[in-house]
Amino acid sequence: MRLLIVGGVAGGATAATRARRLSEDADIVLFERGFYVSYANCGLPYYIGGEIEKRDDLFIASPERLRDRYRIDVRTSQEVVEIERDKKEVKVKDHETGEEFKEQYDKLILSPGARPIRPRLQGVDSNKVFTLRDLPDSDSIKNYLERNRVASAVVVGGGPIGMELVENLSRQGVAVTVIEKQDKVMPALDFEMAAILHRHLRDQNIRLYLGDGVKSFHEKKGRLVVSTEKGVDMETDMALLAIGVWPEKELAEKAGLTIGEQGGIVVDEMLRTSDPDIYAIGDVIEVRDLVTGENRLLALAGPANRQGRAAADTIIGRESIFEGVWGTSITRVFNMVAASTGDKEESLRDIGKPYLASFTHSYHHASYYPGAKRMAIKLLFGPDRGEILGAQIVGEEGVDKRIDVLATALKAGMTVHDLEELELAYAPQFGSAKDPVNIAGFVASNILKGDVHIVHWNELGDLNKEDTMLLDVRTDEEIKQTGTIMDAVHIHVDELRDRLDELDRDKTYIAYCTVSLRGYIAYRILVQHGFKAKILSGGMETWSPPLEDIAERETRKQGSFSSKDDIRTA
Ligand SMILES: Cc1cc2nc3c(=O)[nH]c(=O)nc-3n(C[C@H](O)[C@H](O)[C@H](O)COP(=O)(O)OP(=O)(O)OC[C@H]3O[C@@H](n4cnc5c(N)ncnc54)[C@H](O)[C@@H]3O)c2cc1C
Repeated sequence: MRLLIVGGVAGGATAATRARRLSEDADIVLFERGFYVSYANCGLPYYIGGEIEKRDDLFIASPERLRDRYRIDVRTSQEVVEIERDKKEVKVKDHETGEEFKEQYDKLILSPGARPIRPRLQGVDSNKVFTLRDLPDSDSIKNYLERNRVASAVVVGGGPIGMELVENLSRQGVAVTVIEKQDKVMPALDFEMAAILHRHLRDQNIRLYLGDGVKSFHEKKGRLVVSTEKGVDMETDMALLAIGVWPEKELAEKAGLTIGEQGGIVVDEMLRTSDPDIYAIGDVIEVRDLVTGENRLLALAGPANRQGRAAADTIIGRESIFEGVWGTSITRVFNMVAASTGDKEESLRDIGKPYLASFTHSYHHASYYPGAKRMAIKLLFGPDRGEILGAQIVGEEGVDKRIDVLATALKAGMTVHDLEELELAYAPQFGSAKDPVNIAGFVASNILKGDVHIVHWNELGDLNKEDTMLLDVRTDEEIKQTGTIMDAVHIHVDELRDRLDELDRDKTYIAYCTVSLRGYIAYRILVQHGFKAKILSGGMETWSPPLEDIAERETRKQGSFSSKDDIRTA
């Protein structure tokens, strides 16, 4: 069995080693266009920032290791330029010798990855404009930083790679500006969750230009000028384009393999392309989104590795299925961590899938134990059964553990009621007797059972002020410190029972506090005394960050509860 593999990094190297572990007889050849195989491209931003000090630490397996331990014929600097399917041959160009030659295959795996999008904008070819995909790219960026006095940089794109670059440049004393076409960073998050990061980024002195795109680049007196679509010109020392990646599908396309609507190679559950002897894995393929059932592109190392393993299994004779993805991902942004799994609200709305949402803010370990940090959890779930559809978490500590629990729950097809029952490890340093995941389950379950009625932060502006009243149940001290929402009445939760006669029974009261835990207690008091009530989901902690953003964009809706100016400071 002669197995040829195109692409020697995440998916390709995994497929090659897995195939060898299953078969001592297979003849395995790994072609890599570049100079390096099996390295950690996920570590590149941290190498640029200096957190990973030694370049050698980025290598997972050298060509020698792959040859000696796995007897894989590793061909670096050799690019597969054509597939002749009828002859089951590939044409290979050796970039060192310039020679072209052919190799035969029984089975072929394509794992060529995805390249950074570099739009044909005026001036984009300047040597001060960089993209980051591979080790040579990171060498170029690092060399540029070392050889030039880089005081400022513009990062175009607020996705995970953009955010990692922002952090790693900023930690080296570079003043960073982010330009992002959407109104938020981190595409996997909904707006109000991303807004928590916006606040954090601004606290780190990062300038955010949201809702604006780059139009062109030009050089002026040795500096780079980045011009935006909205007419802003920014003078800077360098720019990094991190606006997404696009599948390297050209080889497959030229060979007549089916390309899907999203732009990736179409594969079946066994990762076979439209030619059963050719498999494709990694960033180049379209995968099934397991929540929506739609095909999508997903550039993540975990799926690429799992697909490499599954394709090798099938080729060696153990049928293995790759069902699809939930898109579980995590990114550090300075002192915060953003993670998500499953679908976000925006996507569910787009495809018309019914859902409910809950917001909770819980400490990552027992609040009485020193160092407890709050994390925000947004849970999306089905309105009937409460099946989990997606989760997003933003916080400082413990985010990785909770997103992985939720990703596992998603895979297991669990409901929010199951989350209530999860028995998670607890000692004060590690969690709480009611873990943040349990609490997310309790709250979602309360919503589902009708034990509580909620209003989300973005629904306040639509409420009729004639029959609705906001009720802040925090202490005077807290309100003095953070302000409250305009027109809210203030009665501390502990005084509420004694002051019910101050309330109007014709109105619906929307109770809230910092995270709406005391808001929930107030709600229970009110409804049991015959008042109409709801709670502001997630309280001030969910309401304030997006409102700050909206204020930043100067889109204040007069007369609503929807702007930062509506936060009354006492
Ligand atoms: C800076 C950065 C940070 C990242 N961080 C994370 C992270 O934290 N978590 C995460 O899950 N994912 C992360 N990713 C994404 C992850 O690295 C990719 O999803 C994964 O590497 C995809 O694997 P792949 O095998 O499809 O492609 P790649 O790993 O990109 O490998 C493709 C290889 O194929 C070679 N090639 C292409 N065409 C040919 C050809 N015709 N002939 C020979 N060789 C060819 C290319 O040179 C390339 O080396 C990051 C990516 C980058 C760039």
